[in-house]
This record gives sequence, structure tokens and C-alpha cells, in this order.
Amino acid sequence: MIPVQGFDSARVAVLGLGRSGLATARALRAGGAIPVVWDDNEAARDAAMAEGFEPVDLTRVGAFDDIATLIVSPGIPHLYPTPNRVVLAALEAGVPVDNDIGLFFRSLSRGEWDYFDTMPRVIAVTGSNGKSTTSALIHHILTEAGHESQLAGNIGRGVLDIDPPGDGGVVVLELSSYQTDLARALTPDIAVFTNLSPDHLDRHGGFGGYFAAKRRLFAEGGPDRAVIGVDEVEGKFLAGQMAEGPTDDRVIRISSGQKLSGAGWNVFARKGFLAEWRKGRQVANIDLRGIAGLPGAHNHQNACAAYAAVRGLGLAPRMIEQAFQSFTGLPHRSQRIAEINGVTYVNDSKATNADSAAKALAAFQNIRWICGGLEKDGGIDAVTPHLGHVAKAYVIGREAAAFALHLGDTPHEVCTTMAAAVAAAARDAVAGDTVLLAPAAASFDQYNSFEKRGEDFIAEVGKLTA
Ligand code: ADP
Repeated sequence: MIPVQGFDSARVAVLGLGRSGLATARALRAGGAIPVVWDDNEAARDAAMAEGFEPVDLTRVGAFDDIATLIVSPGIPHLYPTPNRVVLAALEAGVPVDNDIGLFFRSLSRGEWDYFDTMPRVIAVTGSNGKSTTSALIHHILTEAGHESQLAGNIGRGVLDIDPPGDGGVVVLELSSYQTDLARALTPDIAVFTNLSPDHLDRHGGFGGYFAAKRRLFAEGGPDRAVIGVDEVEGKFLAGQMAEGPTDDRVIRISSGQKLSGAGWNVFARKGFLAEWRKGRQVANIDLRGIAGLPGAHNHQNACAAYAAVRGLGLAPRMIEQAFQSFTGLPHRSQRIAEINGVTYVNDSKATNADSAAKALAAFQNIRWICGGLEKDGGIDAVTPHLGHVAKAYVIGREAAAFALHLGDTPHEVCTTMAAAVAAAARDAVAGDTVLLAPAAASFDQYNSFEKRGEDFIAEVGKLTA
């Protein structure tokens, strides 16, 4: 645990008592603060009281009279689409509003660091897509290279739950836009921005607000080094703002698809090869095509981001290449689960919208595509350019027949259940095909979560060999 510093004997309010809220309350108490806690949900309050925390109804008049700071959980929209009334009450009382990430950055460094040979460092990853994969890959490379590394934030443990880093230790943080928006301290050593596409716009008051939330990680005087995806204009702008000039190598620009020719520090992937260029000279070239854990152009972008981040820490290209080979990917994201009679089975249940399903379809050929579920706004138009890779679609979901109407001339079969879809795809597939679960839809019509849907797929594939 990282005890929270700077609030000795002060009352600090914690709003939202999920996993991170409770961890925050514990870390505050360990640092000498007096946490007072609130959640609209009674069961959540009971769980906190069982640990000895004092519930205080933060919605009542005067609740903030003796409160030093309000800490808000990431699941609670603080400003948009409508301001949260507790947050508003704190702001009106002049009480600062922060989150666990802000507390983490203000509390991380400790007296014992004076005796370390290498200061601990923090790598923070944000962006619209690929955050989890990139963060997990950075953590994997560091671990394989023999460094102490801890993965936290949106993935792995809560930030305040991790162990205080040791000599030369690295903390890899995955941060969502909600988290970067609210944190009052954001001082990673290396900040990574993967890419930007519209998401969660209701919580940020539009696309500009969403970009602004992510940009906070790159405030002037912030990270020593910034790794920035420049495939969108916002990334180009951010890189331009961070760099003093074309050769300033505090910025490492990354791209998936374009050759970057600037005089600075560039890492890009094209046609399956990752290239690093620095000061006009090529430093490394890695063939990504055979790396099973990183299929497709989107994962090559994640590879560039992770590569650049650990190069920023001084790791050698050879070491990174070796670690790529042993990366198995994250569950439910381009996860290869079996090869049966020459047919590969891939679980990308996390592809809950058309954009991410499109990336998965682009990554494979001769696809037996299991799709469908609870449709998202915006339909599935984004997948249309990739339907040429699909040999046949097998549609699941309660509204499978309606979903199938989007598929036009692409051969398809309405299966409704996962069991029927896997059986039909396995029946039709020939050696060299890929059976891909990439639903382009949410799971909630049939499952509690995308994880459960992916597990069901894995279980059904398991039955094929039983
Ligand atoms: P995040 O943590 O940002 O949600 P993940 O690594 O969990 O990202 O990937 C989520 C989904 O997005 C995956 O199903 C995958 O198909 C897709 N994806 C992964 N990396 C990228 C990328 N760099 N660009 C676009 N889509 C991606």
C-alpha cells in the first residue's frame, strides 16, 4: 500500500466505495488522515463500515464544513453530462476535488529514495484504444528484462494498493480520461498517448473536452519523456507542443502505417515491421509478423508505444524484441486460444464496438466471424470495409436476426447462442481459417460482461476437442 501523505489528522471525504474507493480510504487512514466515506448504495456503505470507516452523508447541508479534500471514484461522472451534486457542494464550499491518481502522485516518493541507486519511475499510458494492451506489454517487457515492475490503475491493482517501489522499480499505470481529468497531481516520468477516437463524449462535454482530459498528462513541465501516437491530428498537435524543436528527443513519435521522417526520435510500424529512427539514423528493425501475441496493425501500434516507452528507460532493442516473442496478449483481446486441425480460434470479446471489431477483422484472413449482441449507437458501419476478410458470419444475440440485416451480401447464419455459433463455425472451417469472436456489440443481452462472453466462447471451443 502507498500511505497517503499530506493529510495528517485531516478529514478527507471519499465518494464512491467500489474497489478503488475502499483502497483509497485504507491508504488515507494508513497515512494518518481521517477518511469519511459515502456511497449512495447501502451495501457499499456497510462494507466500508465493516472496516471501521465512518459514513457521512455528503449530500446533506454543511457536509463539507470540516473536510480538507473530496476524493471521487472514477465511476462517478463529476462534471458532465450533469454535475454530480456532492462534487458541486464541495466546489461551492471551496474544497479541492481530487482522485486516487492525484493522491498517488503526491504520496509516491519517500525518504528512503535518497539512498537508492536508481530512482523509481512511473510510466503512465492513456489514449482511446490499446491502453490495457500497451500497459501490459510494457510491464511484460520490464519483467522479462529483470526489472521490478508493477501494473496498476485501470488494469492490475488499484494505484494506492501497490507496494512502495524499490530501488530502480517501475510503476506502469493505465489511466482513463476520467482519471486524468480529475487528478490534481499528474507527474509520470514517461507519459504515453496511444491514439484518439471519439469515446465517452457525454462525460467530457464533447470531443474537445475528451482530448483536453487526456492532454493533462502532458502538461508543460510534466513528463521527462512523452511517447505520442501521431496518426491523428490531435497527437501531432500534442507532440508539437511538447517538443522544443524537430530534434528534441523528449518526444518519441509513434505511428502505425506511416513512415515518420522527422529528425527527432521516431518509432513506426509498416507492413509488419517496427522501425526505430533517431537523429536521422535507423537504430532498430523488428519483424512483428510472426509474433502470435500481437496480431494486426492495431497491435503493431501498441507494440510501437510499448517499445518507445521502454527505450525511453534505456532498454536495448534486442531485449525488447525477445520479450515481444513471449507476450501472450491479454484475455479477450486478440487472444489465441486454440488451433484445431489447422483452424485458429481467437477471442476478441473486448471488441464491443464496431471500431474495435474492424481492427480485429483487419488483422486476420479467411475469417469465420462470430458477431452480434446488444448493438451500440452508430451501428456497425465501421466494419464494412473489412467484410472482404470474412468467409462467413455466425450471428449471436437475442436480436441476432436484426443484427444480420447489417451484413448485406456477406454469407451469414443466424445462430443466436454461442454454442450454436461455435459449432457451426467449426463445422464450416477449413485449415488456414480463423474463427474469430469480435462481436461489434455489447454483451449485456446475454451475459453480465464481455469477460463472461469470452469465457463462454473458450468453453465452447474446449468442447470441440473433448
Ligand atoms: P483499452 O484499454 O484502451 O480499452 P485494450 O488494449 O483493452 O484497450 O483493447 C480494447 C479493444 O480495442 C480490443 O478488443 C482491440 O480489438 C482494440 N484495440 C487494441 N489496441 C488498439 C489500437 N491500438 N487501436 C485500435 N483498437 C485497438
